[in-house]
Amino acid sequence: MSATPRVRIAPSPTGYFHVGTGRTALFNWLFARQTGGTFILRIEDTDTARNRPEHTEGIKRALLWLGLDWDEGPYFQSERADLYAAAIDKLIASGAVYACDCTAEQIAERAKERGGPPGYDGYCRDRGLEPDVGRILRFCVPKGESGFHDLIRKDVSKDNNDVEDFGVRKSNGDPLFILANVVDDADMAITHVIRGADHVSNTHKYLLLWRALGYGPEPIFAHLPLINNQQGKKLSKRRDKVAVEDYRDDGYMAEALRNYLALLGWSPGDDREILSVEEMIAEFRLENVKSAPAKFDEVKLTSVNSEYLRALPVDELVSRAQAWQLDRWEPIAPLVQERARTFADVYSLTDFLYRTEPVIDQAEWDKAVRKSPGFAGILDAAATRYATIEWDAASIHDATVAAGTEAGVGQLGKAQAPVRLAVTGRSVGPPLWESLELLGRDRTIARIHAALERLQAGRATG
Ligand code: GLU
Repeated sequence: MSATPRVRIAPSPTGYFHVGTGRTALFNWLFARQTGGTFILRIEDTDTARNRPEHTEGIKRALLWLGLDWDEGPYFQSERADLYAAAIDKLIASGAVYACDCTAEQIAERAKERGGPPGYDGYCRDRGLEPDVGRILRFCVPKGESGFHDLIRKDVSKDNNDVEDFGVRKSNGDPLFILANVVDDADMAITHVIRGADHVSNTHKYLLLWRALGYGPEPIFAHLPLINNQQGKKLSKRRDKVAVEDYRDDGYMAEALRNYLALLGWSPGDDREILSVEEMIAEFRLENVKSAPAKFDEVKLTSVNSEYLRALPVDELVSRAQAWQLDRWEPIAPLVQERARTFADVYSLTDFLYRTEPVIDQAEWDKAVRKSPGFAGILDAAATRYATIEWDAASIHDATVAAGTEAGVGQLGKAQAPVRLAVTGRSVGPPLWESLELLGRDRTIARIHAALERLQAGRATG
């Protein structure tokens, strides 16, 4: 008799919830719901420098918005250090790992000299260094083949010569991703590891570790196809709109996005594209997931969304649209109230939040460009600074002042004007810093880039 499935979604808190993680969560969830299994949420937050409570909140919010409720967790790797330390002790005791004090530069240098592939060459294998903190611990990869069967990719094998002696513990004593990942899957009795194809190469290491730790029966693997953008490039934050919550903020329906995500690598076997969640639970089969990369097509998503929208009873459409609009501007409602004289003002003071792109008044634009010689310079400097700051009103204010100074514009009002116009399309509005905080970093920067392009186009024709 086989055990009831236990599956997990194990996001690292990076600050936003990627649509690819949404798809992985959905497939795990569908599988759990279909089999009466357990869906676990585990936060892989071993990278302590990047941890923030709000990142975890964002993960939970995005999952719940998509309707993907978990049965256990969230578990936090940051709270499970003892477990990883015990596993590392076991690996040390059995001689499965060794200490290494090579620097990244030395490793790269030697790789260059031998002209082979980059990666670690086993230099410290036989040096017998003590496993002290300050040294990285590496797994001693044995000769042979590491292969596994994948429900989607079938037999995947690799010559161990192509697997470097990978690290399991950082030199500061923290466990590395792969170690914590394996220990947790064993401890949480995960039966099926359903995750993105970007982890295939980790799975070879995973199984070497799993066996060295004597964990017994191995989980079944299913690596979901990569998700590419329309140009066939890997979906990435730099190029594409990848945050689940950006779709929510742009007014997509959760059910529609969930439906669309289900089609990224899977189909019910006929040409149906609109499926209820019950249908998905009943018909989803891991074995039917394709291994070829899927293509994320926003046009397609929009057409799925419009079908969902049209299927809503009108009163529900009205109430959901109102709730959505309110959600968007409620955080700055007191600031809007101070400035609005009519409901029409409320609308025009907040519409930059709902529109995919701001509506830019050409006359205002021309005037501002004429009046402010530092226009492009400020926008350019602001976009660069916004990319790396904390995203809150005070930091946005400081970064804008600094951008102004950099562009030779000392007065804050002057530095503020191009940013406001680029981002909201207007020359007046609610306080800018709070507005930008609410709009979000990605949209703000994208709008500034669009404004810079507009300036350039203006120059070309003007
Ligand atoms: N934390 C990993 C990631 O965010 C997931 C690892 C896994 O699913 O095994 O990519």
